[in-house]
Amino acid sequence: MDNCIFCKIIKGEVGADKIYEDEYFLAFLDITPVNPGHTLLIPKEHHKNLFEIPDNTLCEIGPIIKKIAKAIKKATNADGINIGMNNEPAAGQIVFHSHIHIIPRFSDDGYKLWHGKEISSEQSKETAEKIRNFI
Ligand code: 5GP
Ligand code: ZN
Repeated sequence: MDNCIFCKIIKGEVGADKIYEDEYFLAFLDITPVNPGHTLLIPKEHHKNLFEIPDNTLCEIGPIIKKIAKAIKKATNADGINIGMNNEPAAGQIVFHSHIHIIPRFSDDGYKLWHGKEISSEQSKETAEKIRNFI
């Protein structure tokens, strides 16, 4: 796609610090990393986000996530790794070419995880039922 920054990186029109590439996928360092080593793994085919990625691409991306996560953990001496994907603006998506964040984490990096909200067991059951109906 012409005006997509990640398609431009794939085509070599925009530079990036690449760490993995094969016929279908590319991984490169995020320009504003949460921690050094924060990597973006993208399918080379342009899809907006999770909801548009073909199932076979999702099947293939899993082992690559693991390979890269292991390499980042070793290279940065990280204590842990977060895997994330922002889908749609409400979930924080800014670049609309599907990408997986692979983020090294350190015990003392100062970040916190999500804050959970209290929910009644009735509301939880009702929500589970609603979701099951769409699966
Ligand atoms: P999103 O919020 O869409 O999941 O995250 C997009 C990510 O892409 C952000 O973390 C941002 O720093 C990164 N990013 C945006 N533009 C560029 C770029 O031109 N090069 C690189 N390497 N990363 C980018
Ligand atoms: Zn693209």
